[in-house]
Amino acid sequence: MPNQPSLKDVHELTLVDPKNKKAFALKDCETRGDKLFENKKDAKASLEADALAINDLQDALFASKAGSLLIVLQGIDTSGKDGATKEAFRYTSPLGMMVQAFGKPTEEELAHDYLWRLHKVTPRRGFITVFNRSQYEDVLVVKVRQLAPAKMVEQRYEQINQWEKMLVENGTRMLKIMLHISKEEQGVRLRERLEVPQKRWKFNPSDLEDRKLWDDYQAAYETVLQRCSTSWAPWHVVPADSRTRRDAIAARLIRGELEAMKLEYPDPGYRPEQYQID
Ligand code: AMP
Ligand code: MG
Repeated sequence: MPNQPSLKDVHELTLVDPKNKKAFALKDCETRGDKLFENKKDAKASLEADALAINDLQDALFASKAGSLLIVLQGIDTSGKDGATKEAFRYTSPLGMMVQAFGKPTEEELAHDYLWRLHKVTPRRGFITVFNRSQYEDVLVVKVRQLAPAKMVEQRYEQINQWEKMLVENGTRMLKIMLHISKEEQGVRLRERLEVPQKRWKFNPSDLEDRKLWDDYQAAYETVLQRCSTSWAPWHVVPADSRTRRDAIAARLIRGELEAMKLEYPDPGYRPEQYQID
């Protein structure tokens, strides 16, 4: 058995308490993650064990069709949304899993309400879907870059809360994770994107525009965490400066959600002894 922090310890560090969310301040959240994993070796072993467990749990979810899991991943550029997904699901069968990334809305998407493109791709029963960016972009980038009138943005927090409540009441469990990195670490990773040929495709000059707006994004994230951490879909802030620890903590949370679903394989509806295979 790897040396892992308990789910309770993980929650203590990451959960934005829905009952006390006004008191929440993003500057109080650490970006290192070494309180949970002193060394990388423990984090790697924990991730390995959880990734194996996540595969087993997903299999039971797919078989039972007992509900669905929607994982919302948010975080500024380079925070590791792709990496955390890849590692936590390294052993999970792609059958029964979807990853949906949300970029700039298309013309058709913009011609609808902002939740339209998200609702179309929420997980069906038996599935896990990861949103790489999400409905929250509509109160993050849209707010910071003033892509919609302030009054419209203001209404969205409560609309999102109610939309998520509806999903949860209809059998979708939600896990919302913000990957939290420091400005220094983002600088390191953006430089890496320019230097490493295989990473250059990920760099977009507009990332630097967003970096200039760092404080505005932090403030917008803080508002999201204060206003949209609810009892039915709470937020978790995961320290993301260390890739290994980030992935290990995210995997602990994902495993915890799946275990809380108390999944069981369905009764096959026959007795195996009835059949003989020649
Ligand atoms: P990436 O995730 O790095 O591939 O970039 C996707 C880009 O799309 C990011 O710059 C997001 O801020 C942007 N984006 C995502 N959703 C929206 C939205 N609703 N409105 C405007 N831009 C968005
Ligand atoms: Mg990007």
